[in-house]
Amino acid sequence: MIVVLKPDVAAEKQERLIDWLKSLSLNVHVSTGEYQTVLGLVGDTSAVDTALLESLEIVDTVKQVSDPFKRANRKFHPENTVIDVNGVKIGGGNFCMIAGPCSVESEDQIIGIAKAVKASGAGMLRGGAFKPRTSPYDFQGLKKEGLRLLSAAKQETGLPIVTEIMNAADLPLFDDVDVLQVGARNTQNFDLLKELGTVGKPILLKRGIAGTLKELLMSAEYIMASGNENVILCERGIRTYSDYLRNTLDLSAVPMLHELTHLPVIVDPSHATGIARMVSPMALAGTACGADGLIIEVHNDPEHALCDGAQSLRPEDFDKLASKVRAVREAVI
Ligand code: PEP
Ligand code: MN
Repeated sequence: MIVVLKPDVAAEKQERLIDWLKSLSLNVHVSTGEYQTVLGLVGDTSAVDTALLESLEIVDTVKQVSDPFKRANRKFHPENTVIDVNGVKIGGGNFCMIAGPCSVESEDQIIGIAKAVKASGAGMLRGGAFKPRTSPYDFQGLKKEGLRLLSAAKQETGLPIVTEIMNAADLPLFDDVDVLQVGARNTQNFDLLKELGTVGKPILLKRGIAGTLKELLMSAEYIMASGNENVILCERGIRTYSDYLRNTLDLSAVPMLHELTHLPVIVDPSHATGIARMVSPMALAGTACGADGLIIEVHNDPEHALCDGAQSLRPEDFDKLASKVRAVREAVI
């Protein structure tokens, strides 16, 4: 249920109403907008007398929200969430490019790529240290050493770092990581999501390989219900009948998610297509349809990459793409 308050309600009256709602065993989520405040009520609202609520002098409207996701719901929080990662903003008109290799492979590799993508305008560095590979015989990532090399690249360039966490038990190793990524294979690892809800860092949550938008939003809800409201959603392609591409990039998810939620939404054209020459057109399309950012794999030597070389852009191609992304942004905003 949501309760929209009238504009300019006195703080003390608002507090009294919130205390009363809390006394009904409801969780009250307060969203303070520029003009109006919205109270999102989570829990069993059957005890609430809607007519009584509506009759209160400070209440404008009361609406039932039937969607199962509450905290992520735009109805609960009409204004866009802006996530600030060490001064780099994403969401609510702030566009951010996250770029870097699929996996961290060596100090020279990650620092070289970090410098190059920064020069091209990337706001954050990506790079996997713990890799969720389909085959147990494939490169599994440098793990702790990979995180150390990411920190070195952060120190060298100042770029905040984004990397995947697969197991909450590894959290102590991620102290210097700025954004924790939940990969498509773990989107519904609810124990992991609950743990990440207790961490004071933004979470980049990828859509599951066969996940619906509602499932993605419910996964975000798990993180938010545990106390962490800083979730960035990522459309990274879903499994369909596509035969020549790794996945199908569901770009209509972007405007639909913007309707459904206040959380930032970014697009990953690398995992969506699996083919480097498909990455730029789809990155531009993602930008045009309103994504708040892009996450793109960039490698200095794709032929010898230990993971996902076929979909990795060379730094010079990322540079060209970044200019085109800026031109598309200019054209559509
Ligand atoms: C990745 O970003 O390297 C990755 C494994 O992505 P996804 O979880 O979307 O497959
Ligand atoms: Mn990858």
